[in-house]
Amino acid sequence: MANFPTRIRQRLPLADIASAAVWASLGAALVIHGCAPDSVAKDPTATRRALPSVPVAVAPAAPAAPVAPVVVVAPVVPVFEQRPSVPSTEPDLRIRVAALRSASPLVRLTNPSGKLMMQGAGLAPRAVRTPVDVRPSSGGWRVVEGAGSKRPTTIEVTLAGPIEFHPPAGSHGVVAFDGTDWPGPLRLVPVTDEPSSPGALDVVIDVPLERYLPGVLAKELLKSWDLEAFKAQAIAARSFAICEHAHWSSVRHYDLIAGEASQAWVGVTKDAKPREAVQATRGMVLSFEGRVVPCYYSSTCGGTPANAAESLTRNPNHGIAPLAAGSTPATAHRDCCADAPRFRWQQSFANAVICERIRRWATDQREAQAEREAQVVRVAQVERDGRMQPARAVAPVDGAALGKNASPLKGTATSITATASASVTAANTLKVESVTSEPSVGTRASTPASPSPAASATGVPAAVSVPVATVRSAAQVPARNGIVDIADDAPLSELTALTAIRSINIVAVNAAGRPTSLAIHDAAGHVLQLRAEDFRRAVNYAREGEPTPKDRLNSSHLLQVTVKGTEIQFVGQGFGHGVGMCQYGAQSMARSGANALLILRTYYPGAAVVRAY
Ligand SMILES: [Zn+2]
Repeated sequence: MANFPTRIRQRLPLADIASAAVWASLGAALVIHGCAPDSVAKDPTATRRALPSVPVAVAPAAPAAPVAPVVVVAPVVPVFEQRPSVPSTEPDLRIRVAALRSASPLVRLTNPSGKLMMQGAGLAPRAVRTPVDVRPSSGGWRVVEGAGSKRPTTIEVTLAGPIEFHPPAGSHGVVAFDGTDWPGPLRLVPVTDEPSSPGALDVVIDVPLERYLPGVLAKELLKSWDLEAFKAQAIAARSFAICEHAHWSSVRHYDLIAGEASQAWVGVTKDAKPREAVQATRGMVLSFEGRVVPCYYSSTCGGTPANAAESLTRNPNHGIAPLAAGSTPATAHRDCCADAPRFRWQQSFANAVICERIRRWATDQREAQAEREAQVVRVAQVERDGRMQPARAVAPVDGAALGKNASPLKGTATSITATASASVTAANTLKVESVTSEPSVGTRASTPASPSPAASATGVPAAVSVPVATVRSAAQVPARNGIVDIADDAPLSELTALTAIRSINIVAVNAAGRPTSLAIHDAAGHVLQLRAEDFRRAVNYAREGEPTPKDRLNSSHLLQVTVKGTEIQFVGQGFGHGVGMCQYGAQSMARSGANALLILRTYYPGAAVVRAY
């Protein structure tokens, strides 16, 4: 148990909550996607996360009310981390290479030496003959060594948690799974938070960053492309991975996904160019104002870049110049990817298919929101004795103050005592009592600065305090993958009932001309406005463990949308989200003689390449 100071404020729409001004006023340690503070990233306990200051909404109550419970509910508070500092050592990454969601899936592993070392928490390392088949069992794991041979041996392993398979010392250092050589120990992690998938597993590879990168480049770029484009990609991918690692290290059991959700990865690659590019740029990362840039990139910008803060992330710390090339009408890379196969395109989808995917996406987004609500700091049935206590000062809490026994934020049964301190106006509008800015590295200048209603509220404060409250669970629910979920401001309820689209209009564009907001006119007469990139994600949506649809909308940079009978025809440009480096554009520059540094300066304006280690 620990004291947990909070500040009281009104509940705000998430769009308002997302503004930097609000976060600054709350003094929250800001982050989502990307980045933990140094103290967290380097914390050897690594499963702890500094608790944020949690805003709490207070139900209106007259001071003279009879004894009645006052329910105090805090909205879910995304904790927006700052971008990580430039690391001094090479991080070890955890890459999820498969999400197996069938009941009790079977995993077959091999190694060129014919052996793997099996181990786990409390399990003495043991050599097993390959091929080895592994599947969950009631007591832990059923392992069959020599699977498929004349003399297979079944081993029942009693182990509640993950089981690991390491390449034996002196072997080729790979574990082969699903037709791919993975360059490091392979871990099977039971997934217990998806009741609909009993026995589900995640397959996770532990690998040092520099060993991971060649397999990213081998899949992200075409073999024929120039070395300088590979080097630029290596630095961007390294920076992105460092941010993801910093963010996820204390939140979930993997840092990145091998795939579009994070970065493509083929595991071990024999291609020389990716390895050369990684070696030549070893330890180099893109930095802006002393912190690593989460280097988003995509295939083809279509000549009109997107801004990260508008389309990919709601972390105000990502609202920085290097990720906001679309904030200026004149960009240095207009038409940079004119020779890309999807620079301009036309696609047709069945209206019913699009509606069905949007419904599924919206349904899952609502469930995710409900999950967040369940993790909200909830103060239930706070008993009052008919009078309010005077407010008292409470010192801010940081992670260190919580001590080593503090539960990780993603825990489930943690119980913390909270004491709130606030000023409340006579009209029950709330005023933030004090402002504590997060440590600034200058990103605020490029983030939205409009004051929030709570931050600007005025009135005659009347001392009040909220009595001791119980915090049930975590205050932060991270997104499920590398791209942060920003769908909170979409009309999800209406979208879950979408049956037919009458028309789709572009209602807002960024300075470069790329759509940022679309309006769907549905058959029921509703006008449903959502972010353009959310629309693309919804149309391309696949649930965890499902294959991604083969017919996917290329980008949210739509030029024209026409509903024709049962079909919807899209004319657009570009492929991917359009934030940061355009891969086809990078290759075009490299082919014209530009080096990696010039490429990166073009696509991440204001950022600098530095050597981290
Ligand atoms: Zn481009």
